[in-house]
Amino acid sequence: MANQTSIPAHDPELWVEATGFDGRCYLLGNPHTHLGRMVVWVESLKDAAYISKYDIENASEAARRWIEGFLHGNEPSPAEYLGIDPRAEADLDDGDPGMARWRAALAEFHQKGTMPSLVPVPSIPFPLDEVNGHVPWTWAGGQVWIWQDASWQVAEPQPALEGTSLAGSVCAIRGYDDLTAEVGDRHVACIDCGYTLESSG
Ligand SMILES: [Zn+2]
Repeated sequence: MANQTSIPAHDPELWVEATGFDGRCYLLGNPHTHLGRMVVWVESLKDAAYISKYDIENASEAARRWIEGFLHGNEPSPAEYLGIDPRAEADLDDGDPGMARWRAALAEFHQKGTMPSLVPVPSIPFPLDEVNGHVPWTWAGGQVWIWQDASWQVAEPQPALEGTSLAGSVCAIRGYDDLTAEVGDRHVACIDCGYTLESSG
């Protein structure tokens, strides 16, 4: 981050110790990057940094309560998590499998402070039957979707994931997708696993 010339206002009671940083960090607020991400002032660096709950090794009691409140405030709604129109949320009853996926995601969010990037369920037809020999797939609403028989379908059975990568794929091992496949201007896709996203541009 840019050089900080002055120490931002912070509450000395809101200290944490986090992996990768010497000494104490002080909770400042929300960087608005990923849900659950927090900005801290790192005393030893005299600079700000971003951390998540899973980075925290030790914290004051006040900081723990601050973080719990922060995570509650960052919870996605069922519609946001499921990638559906907010007006459709009223049709979901508590027994809907989507609500179970949302509740499970919130439990993990409160435990680790992480949430996958949330996108709408896929709706734009994919222009190819395969990407470098891989079935085009994406993740939305807590499920893997595949492009099959010229439509987006929920994968049945659901493949095993590591994080948001297919378990055992080169992308899971490497830790990121290589989104450089040529797929027209409405999608990007990974040449190594077929993961796709609707492009925003
Ligand atoms: Zn990939």
